[in-house]
Order: sequence, then C-alpha cells, then structure tokens
Amino acid sequence: MAANEIEHLIRLMGRLPGLGPRSARRAALSLMKHPDTLLRPLIEALGTCRDAISICSTCGNLDSHDPCSVCADRDRDRDVVCVVQEVEDLWAMDRSGSYRGLFHILGGTLSALDGRHPEHLRITALLERVEKDGIGEVILALGATVDGQTTAHYLGERLRPLACRVTRLAYGLPVGGELNYLDQGTLDAAMKARQLLA
Ligand SMILES: [Zn+2]
Repeated sequence: MAANEIEHLIRLMGRLPGLGPRSARRAALSLMKHPDTLLRPLIEALGTCRDAISICSTCGNLDSHDPCSVCADRDRDRDVVCVVQEVEDLWAMDRSGSYRGLFHILGGTLSALDGRHPEHLRITALLERVEKDGIGEVILALGATVDGQTTAHYLGERLRPLACRVTRLAYGLPVGGELNYLDQGTLDAAMKARQLLA
C-alpha cells in the first residue's frame, strides 16, 4: 500500500488518456524515483504550459499566441480551411506536410448517444469564419466513424448555403497496405472512392 499522497497522484495520472491503473502506477513510481531528472522538470513544464498556453480564438488550436502560429502564418493558403476533430488531428495533418492551408478544430464530433449536439462543437464559429473571410474551400477531415460521418454530413448541410466548395478526405487503401489484410468497411469505401486511372 502506497502513501496516500502517492495514491492520490496515481489516481490523477490514471485519468490521463492512454494510462490505465497499472501504467499510472508505474509512471508515478518513476517520477518518485527520479526527482531531479523527471519530477521537477515535469512540475515546471506543467506550470509553464498552464500559464502560457491558451486556445486560439480563430481555429481552436493550442498555442502560446492568439492567433496561433498556424493562423498567423502568412505563407499559408488562406482560401482553404481544413476542419478536424481535435488539436492532435491538426498536428498530424500539419506534420504530414501535404496540406498548407488553415484549420478549424471542432472539438469532437456530434454524437446522439453521448449527448454531443451542434452547440457543443465550434460549428457556429466555423460558419461565421467561412462567411466573414470569404473562404473558398472547406475540407472536412473527420474520422471515418459513424459519428465522424454524421458530423461531416451535418456540416455539409450547414455549409451548403455559403459560397464555398465543401470537400472531404477520400477513404481507401493505406499506403503500403496489402489488400488481403483490409477490413470489409475499408475495402467497401475504397471501392466506392475508386478513381479513373487515365
Ligand atoms: Zn489558430
């Protein structure tokens, strides 16, 4: 039985995504064992992030500036906005280097089951932004899940009256993937999204 203080730490860490009770315990113990190289720098980093990081009022990204470095980057194509669910999706998309436009973070997907309705997402902010900034294209880059697609459909309907093109990412084969390892849903989607070769 660990001291109450450590148990409290373990419970808190166990609430982090990806950390179950066992890994939370291991992580907490590791912090206790390495006060100078791990615990203290972590405390400092947490404090710095708490004080410095805020949500970009334009796109919903997390950064130490508002507007964030993505929104403020004048080299980006400012005519295109890519709509993603979460901040980590923006980071992944940006890391890929395949897209150099602007972003808009919804903050999740619609879900009747989980009680997430349009007013819980940054949808009004998106519509206002598209209209005010005269955005030419909105790319819906949402997950290929039921909730992701329900949300994409809903956004398509809401964006339709505005003078912008609405596109979504294609579904299909993962690069380097073998056909016989794919699940039925991916194969179906890839078949439906097939393209003319020449
Ligand atoms: Zn931003």
